[in-house]
Amino acid sequence: QAKARGRNGYRFYAPSMTGEGMERLRLETFLRRSLEKNEIFLNYQPQVEIDTGRLIGVEALVRWNHPELGLVPPSRFIALAEDSGFINQLGKWVLEEACRQMLRWQQQGLHVPKMAVNLSLKQFERGSIAGMVDAILQETGLEPQRLQLEVTESVIMNTSDALGYINDLHAIGVGLAIDDFGTGYSSLAYLKQLPVQTLKIDRSFIKDIASDADDEAITIAIIELGRSMQLSVIAEGVETQEQAAFLLRHGCRLAQGYFYSRPVTAHDIVERWTSL
Ligand code: C2E
Ligand code: MG
Ligand code: MG
Ligand code: MG
Repeated sequence: QAKARGRNGYRFYAPSMTGEGMERLRLETFLRRSLEKNEIFLNYQPQVEIDTGRLIGVEALVRWNHPELGLVPPSRFIALAEDSGFINQLGKWVLEEACRQMLRWQQQGLHVPKMAVNLSLKQFERGSIAGMVDAILQETGLEPQRLQLEVTESVIMNTSDALGYINDLHAIGVGLAIDDFGTGYSSLAYLKQLPVQTLKIDRSFIKDIASDADDEAITIAIIELGRSMQLSVIAEGVETQEQAAFLLRHGCRLAQGYFYSRPVTAHDIVERWTSL
């Protein structure tokens, strides 16, 4: 959201600014009460092995259902939550709920190998993120290696002590993935120092993989990079059979996207994956 407004944050038309400002304030007021009103919940999007269709994990994606506004997409409230500081509360709730869900599935007879959860920059700035994650793992009893935290490239590059925080998280045994990979600009030298296991190819590259030579080249380069650095590579936003086939042909074995499943409820995950 902030990005769309332009670098300096100034806007040009006062009337629309007022309207937007009011809207923002209203949204922020609603958002602050969303957790206690049980309006926040999680959807889960399967991550699969392309050639077998096997479930290798899920990504937790936060959802906000407000009685007046309806379903508000993360693109409309995550940045707001970050600006207002609410993200710390929200992020903690998401982590707890995601970890608890892994145990519920287990009790229902479904073993989901891995839970991926998104972290935002503001959660790092507050410090002691590893302490919070560790406490949640202790409390829920989820094995640390079954939790994978996703951090975008831009977060890593724009946080002064990102390496320190990421090392702390690595030390408690959780997995780390770089989300939206290819859209930021991390230097490869820096990447080499990070104890991450997974690169997620941004869906903007996957979209036109079959028709755009640049996207094709970038995707192949990321797959190669992953191979040479012994990282696992997962493609985001896979919507077609052709995209999946392309990825497999070029050595990317893992994917996530509407072709396999949209983000769905915990119950839908059980329905689809238990009876195999
Ligand atoms: P992300 O982490 O890159 O998540 C992937 C987004 O791509 C999700 O959007 C998902 O619904 C969408 N997607 C998945 N497959 C496809 C596909 O095949 N085609 C298309 N067009 N889209 C696909 P969503 O759920 O709207 O989330 C958007 C972003 O909001 C996420 O991007 C993430 O950055 C952020 N977000 C979501 N949940 C959380 C959260 O719990 N905490 C934080 N900090 N950020 C979150
Ligand atoms: Mg993600
Ligand atoms: Mg992504
Ligand atoms: Mg994204």
